[in-house]
Amino acid sequence: ETITVQELANRMAERGGNVIKTLMKLGVMATINQVIDADTAELVVEEFGHKAKRVSDADVEIGLVSGPDTEAEMMSRPPVVTVMGHVDHGKTSLLDAMRSTDVVSGEAGGITQHIGAYQVQVPSGDRITFIDTPGHAAFTAMRARGAEVTDIVVLVVAANDGIMPQTIEAIRHAQAAKVPMVVAINKIDLPEADPNRVRTELLQHDVVVEEMGGDVQTVEVSAKKRMNLDKLVEAILLQSEILDLKANPDRTAEGAVVEAKMERGRGSVATVLIQRGTLRVGDTFVCGKEWGRVRALVNERGERVEEAGPSVPVEVLGFNGTPEAGDDFIAVEDEAKAREVSGYRQRKDRETQFVKSARGSMEQMFERIQAGEAKELPVVIKGDVQGSVEALIGTLEKMGTDAVKVRVLHSAVGGINESDVTLAKASDALIIGFNVRANPQAREMARRDGVEIRYYSIIYNVADDVKALLTGMLEPTY
Ligand code: GDP
Repeated sequence: ETITVQELANRMAERGGNVIKTLMKLGVMATINQVIDADTAELVVEEFGHKAKRVSDADVEIGLVSGPDTEAEMMSRPPVVTVMGHVDHGKTSLLDAMRSTDVVSGEAGGITQHIGAYQVQVPSGDRITFIDTPGHAAFTAMRARGAEVTDIVVLVVAANDGIMPQTIEAIRHAQAAKVPMVVAINKIDLPEADPNRVRTELLQHDVVVEEMGGDVQTVEVSAKKRMNLDKLVEAILLQSEILDLKANPDRTAEGAVVEAKMERGRGSVATVLIQRGTLRVGDTFVCGKEWGRVRALVNERGERVEEAGPSVPVEVLGFNGTPEAGDDFIAVEDEAKAREVSGYRQRKDRETQFVKSARGSMEQMFERIQAGEAKELPVVIKGDVQGSVEALIGTLEKMGTDAVKVRVLHSAVGGINESDVTLAKASDALIIGFNVRANPQAREMARRDGVEIRYYSIIYNVADDVKALLTGMLEPTY
């Protein structure tokens, strides 16, 4: 994968002829349709005064490169919390109850609106930001798009019900994202509540609570009766202190979309969670494939605000199109830059959609196996330690049937990178990440190319899923 002179010119919003001239200056003779390598492309981009960002070994993205912040610029910021747990265990009730701990909205409670996230100021003066969409579906969807916004997961477990399937899923998701948990043992007002049973059950799922000698805090609460909410706040703030969350507020804003919609009379609006810097009315921005200029900022109480800093969720008006949850949001210097980058991203998106439909995805792989054309399920395994990688290989290679075998294409210790995705894409393989994550470039590539990456932290779950895949594939041939 390399780039043509024409495409490079398009990305920079420069004329092809000028790019050819610059190439000549660099000693490269090229025509408009000629392909040049990424190193040369990078040099050209810099010649034109743009910032070049290598998105892979072979590709260069232009602009949107923000320098690192110095230690002195970093200020502590509030934690961003996502509430997860089994259905009916009280996630929504707890989010509502936590909202009522806000001292800013006053006794009357203020008029709160659902914008996808809200921030409360607790009596101590500390702030906590809650993502207002409970459950791991949203969490995972955001993560799948490369947005890592959650600092702490509050796992809600009903004390009368104990650990249920979605509780386990939530644990897996939090563990996969390496986000620490605070367990809220809810419904302790009920006579049948048994908080200690919850603590013991958690142990079976690799969650060792403080009472059992681990480092996961538990708090017994009742969302309904508003019991111990202050203790939950304390636990969240303590966890936040341990994480030492910081961001530089004094720079151009960057963040992620939590929720986006088209609204009659307001146009496209999105709730953006600011992650670094400060966003102000009038700022120009790129967001996913869209761009815009901030016409107004509105907080969760429906009030207009002039600016929003780190960990602050704010509704942004002034989009030229509707972005998607999980999209990145970056303030840029001017409209020309914003148009250029969003134009580039839109073109790229159209291209990859074409590529996706043209090339085989995992599903097409399954179809081929079903049709008897393929006899293997190829996998790429990445793990945190050699021992678990080897255990996985052993388990998976034993699992094949006469008709279909698991073939380990590649296995290694370490995070999932672009080369793993390239490999998987080329063979329509599944990537298994065991206690490791994909780096942002690999994640973006996998999303773009329809490569499936699955994260695990327990070996028998890998075995279960792979078995389901294999038997699912075999079913129609019976
Ligand atoms: P979600 O599905 O996890 O969002 O759960 P909800 O917040 O919708 O709550 C499910 C049910 O449990 C509702 O009927 C709530 O009134 C009830 N509930 C939530 N928290 C408590 C609690 O602390 N005590 C009791 N007794 N009921 C609760």
